[in-house]
Amino acid sequence: MIDTHSHMFDGAFDADRDEALGHAREAGVERILCPAIDSESHDAMLAMCRANPGYCVPMMGMHPTSVNDNLDWERELAIVESHLASPPPGGFCAIGEVGLDLHWSRDFLAEQTAAFERQIELAISYDLPLAIHTREAWAEMFTTLEKYTGRGMRGVMHAFSGTLNDYRRVRAVGDFVLGVGGSVTYKKSRWRELLPAIDPAHIVLETDAPWLTPEPFRGRRNESSYLTHILTAAAAILDTSPADLDRITTGNVRRVFGL
Ligand SMILES: [Zn+2]
Repeated sequence: MIDTHSHMFDGAFDADRDEALGHAREAGVERILCPAIDSESHDAMLAMCRANPGYCVPMMGMHPTSVNDNLDWERELAIVESHLASPPPGGFCAIGEVGLDLHWSRDFLAEQTAAFERQIELAISYDLPLAIHTREAWAEMFTTLEKYTGRGMRGVMHAFSGTLNDYRRVRAVGDFVLGVGGSVTYKKSRWRELLPAIDPAHIVLETDAPWLTPEPFRGRRNESSYLTHILTAAAAILDTSPADLDRITTGNVRRVFGL
């Protein structure tokens, strides 16, 4: 199993990060891909990846909500660009997480779009996949993404919350796969209907630790070791074995991230 989206560099793990990473290894998580948020947490992310080379692999990018209320967002973007120009040993595995989030406010759509488009262009020029965050912004997401159709984009629609039609539109834009996370374990999960209609070649697994905790730990801190619960729940919906789904989704991660 590969956790394609985990923020275990977050302060929520400051007291027991090594122990929690040990649990992930014991649970069979062979690699953890770490999406950047902004310069406030870059050092913590890079330090965790340095301490766990080849196991924790960093992305680089600016989260859409970090654009909101931030007069310095263009400077943040310049920091992302300078990291990309001088990557750590092993490099960055993706541009992420980037995208559009209109949940908190619609006032920053223009700025979020500008930051997102600049980072799509970086992904294309560095030939890196994208980890894309979309919250309450599907129409706006397609307005941007579809400008780049046929430009060789690939990546993950993290915490996919769209419809079957959104899935098809996203596939028409590039080699995008859907991130399946903790919500797949919930009784009323939309994944129960959606997942069987999706080509297994187009899904990857993610925790989004420390958020979006799967059952039976819902309400508590999420961590990468809980990926097993996500794998098991998704396999049950697809009426396949966890081992088979692990093999397929791990292969998808290797294809999209070039690992
Ligand atoms: Zn995230």
